[in-house]
Amino acid sequence: MTGTTGQTAPRLLRRHRIGIVGAGPAGVHLAHLLKQRGFGRVTVLERDTRVGGKSLSVVHDGTVFEMGACYVPSNYDEYRRLLAQYDAGRVVSPPALARDVVTAAFSGSLTTYSLDAWTGHLTDRLIRSGTLRPGGAARRLIDALGAVRRLVAERNRLLGRGYYPLSDRPTPAVLRELAAPFGELMERCRLQILEPFFRLATSAQGYGVLETSPSFYPLLWNERRFVVSFILTRLGLTRRPIVSAVDRGSQSLFTTIAARDQLDIRLGCEVVSIERPGGGRPVAVTLRTENGATEERFDQIILSGDLRGSLGYLAQPSDDEQRIFGQFLHSSFVTTLFKASRWPATAYALNVADALTPNPTLSVSGVRERRFLAPAANIGPALGVAYQFRQDAHGPAVLADLDQSFAPEMRQLGFADLSIVQRCRWAYCPRFPAAAVAEGLPWDIFAMQGRHDTWYAGSSASFESLNDVMKYNVLLLRHYAE
Ligand SMILES: Cc1cc2nc3c(=O)[nH]c(=O)nc-3n(C[C@H](O)[C@H](O)[C@H](O)COP(=O)(O)OP(=O)(O)OC[C@H]3O[C@@H](n4cnc5c(N)ncnc54)[C@H](O)[C@@H]3O)c2cc1C
Repeated sequence: MTGTTGQTAPRLLRRHRIGIVGAGPAGVHLAHLLKQRGFGRVTVLERDTRVGGKSLSVVHDGTVFEMGACYVPSNYDEYRRLLAQYDAGRVVSPPALARDVVTAAFSGSLTTYSLDAWTGHLTDRLIRSGTLRPGGAARRLIDALGAVRRLVAERNRLLGRGYYPLSDRPTPAVLRELAAPFGELMERCRLQILEPFFRLATSAQGYGVLETSPSFYPLLWNERRFVVSFILTRLGLTRRPIVSAVDRGSQSLFTTIAARDQLDIRLGCEVVSIERPGGGRPVAVTLRTENGATEERFDQIILSGDLRGSLGYLAQPSDDEQRIFGQFLHSSFVTTLFKASRWPATAYALNVADALTPNPTLSVSGVRERRFLAPAANIGPALGVAYQFRQDAHGPAVLADLDQSFAPEMRQLGFADLSIVQRCRWAYCPRFPAAAVAEGLPWDIFAMQGRHDTWYAGSSASFESLNDVMKYNVLLLRHYAE
């Protein structure tokens, strides 16, 4: 049985030569899982000269700065298990997070709040507008836990209990509910007291504006354990940190796995064409390397990079691939490692303008504490990472606009004498528009796994987080691998 369009369900078999496009978190983790299962002929093809993709930790003056993935919340089971198993770093909760400061833009003016004050501020606003009942801390706790219960019940009803069971396609009625704006779901399920949490944990991470995002994505991301730990911490009922990071950087896990497992990863190999003749004949992959073009042949190919981008190198994309992958939307996320001689009094500023309004005026959405990961290190006064985010589009025009707005907006936040050390421009958070969710496209991808000897993984097939790409890999192999 091979993974073709034949009668039998496609399977990944140990005897297959398997090529994986992309050595990001999804590709490295998948190669690791396959090796564990006894697959001995797996090659990962990576255009960059390093592994890790959007997990990129750079070291300056002995301190780690995250240019991509950073936080590993308590529900990241697979990531944390492997981190311990491979001794690739320790999960730490930087002291900066205890005194988070939010710079919020209301009515065009910037105001700075501590995280607690900000939560209180939003709550006051909800009370003033008549959305929430007034009351003290006990009332807040009862209301918040009630809302969490309703959220979990709704998530279970629409997505099932575990990781969303992509193999079980929801009914058309449920798909329509998953496509409806999350704002409507919040109102219907009376979740308004959780609004400050959703704005911070969902919108401020670039996972969508609450009012307009299809409900599918916030429901997917806001797992019960994640929400409950946040609420309990904010209410002062537990000392467990809300979010944590890895002292050696999030990328460390992937470089360590790649080295320790001795994975066959070819760096500096860009996949520029994939021919899939079918009928048991091998998949031909053309690679561009610094020494020119070469060709590799595989029985099965796994695409773990951006799936919209794969339309550029699949020689003859199938009708389904064109129909589905062409609908992906991306945001722009730019991270800048910068030096500044003067910092504002609040060293960690998270500007939640994006999270608060559907049409943000500011694009600098965060500046991370300069001693974020190594508070004891003597790293000099000046380095930090700034985040710029644009929800609606990705492309040269948006990126040029973000470049231009960087310095003025940083000055507005109070930084002086800026210079740029390193800048990364990411196509972020591949996701479907509401109509595509209503059509069930995320489930279509899972259903077409293995057709044309081709498999799909990574954040396009699942969701933009380390946790999601790893959970999806586990799900994929559980369903389809020998
Ligand atoms: C600024 C930022 C902050 C983030 N913060 C967090 C966070 O705090 N917590 C969290 O969990 N997640 C976070 N994420 C998201 C997380 O980094 C991603 O979800 C994760 O990296 C996705 O992994 P992936 O392997 O699917 O894709 P990627 O990381 O994008 O890796 C894909 C790889 O495929 C390669 N590739 C693509 N096309 C080709 C080709 N044609 N030939 C060869 N190679 C190719 C790319 O070079 C890349 O290495 C963040 C992301 C960004 C950008």
